[in-house]
Amino acid sequence: MVFSGLAEKLQETFRKLKGKGRLTEEDVDEALKEVRRALLDADVNFKVVKDFQKKVKERAVGSDVLTSLTPGQQVIKIVHEELSELMGGVQSKINLSSKPPTVVMMVGLQGGGKTTTSAKLSNMLRKGGRRPLLVAADVYRPAAIKQLQVLGAQLDIPVFSMGDKNSPVDIARAALENAQSNSRDLVIIDTAGRLHVDDQLMTELESIKAAVKPHEILLVVDAMTGQVAVNVAETFNQRLGLDGVVLTKLDGDTRGGAALSIKAVTGCPIKFAGVGEKLDAIEPFHPDRMADRILG
Ligand code: GDP
Repeated sequence: MVFSGLAEKLQETFRKLKGKGRLTEEDVDEALKEVRRALLDADVNFKVVKDFQKKVKERAVGSDVLTSLTPGQQVIKIVHEELSELMGGVQSKINLSSKPPTVVMMVGLQGGGKTTTSAKLSNMLRKGGRRPLLVAADVYRPAAIKQLQVLGAQLDIPVFSMGDKNSPVDIARAALENAQSNSRDLVIIDTAGRLHVDDQLMTELESIKAAVKPHEILLVVDAMTGQVAVNVAETFNQRLGLDGVVLTKLDGDTRGGAALSIKAVTGCPIKFAGVGEKLDAIEPFHPDRMADRILG
């Protein structure tokens, strides 16, 4: 499970602190050195770790210890709060337009889980009362259109497609009209990905954005790729201005650093987590619950 290594290491560190009645600055330093090592081992961005350590130390050394807690528990509480804060603090909601249809543009590299996540998201939001339309705008990857159609059929959610001979911009525009005439109030566009970020991909995504003015641009990234996911998020955010990130494969055996770094590095919140291959394996991302999991 994600973070299992990190959770274990942090628990070990905090076990040493827990029994202590009084904490010296050296105790705090010693514990934070271990926290730092554990975070770096979990592939958290170096600068993020440094800032984190500084913040926790300032609060831990300067703080009045709450009477209900031992000093050791107090440090653990501060680490918990700061971990949650690092991931955005509160759960970030998706922007749903008051004037339908809401347009959500899904972007990301190939293999990150974009097509699957488009289907999962449409399913989840339908449960909340929306009437989704999925749009197959990945005209380059062989079988991407078919894949979305199969997923849509499984969920009984319509999929708009114009084959692979039209431009993604034309497809996206036509999809919006289609949604309007069929009173669909949510349009989820599955755009093309590539193996690497390239200029042509970005230019095309910019054109789609300009044409349909999405309310929400969500980047889908694979948590297993660690720092790569963070770099990808940074690049996409610079070019497109992301509204949020979906971190997939959090069910896998990852080191979890991407979850802890993305918000701090890019400013974009993680809004959803993919936790399996099934179509209901998606959940809103809760920073505080993630911090619970990390601290065990
Ligand atoms: P795309 O190229 O970005 O559209 O990626 P796909 O949607 O085709 O997904 C690539 C692979 O990742 C597929 O085998 C999916 O089943 C799998 N996948 C997607 N999301 C998750 C997830 O949250 N957990 C797991 N375990 N697998 C996932």
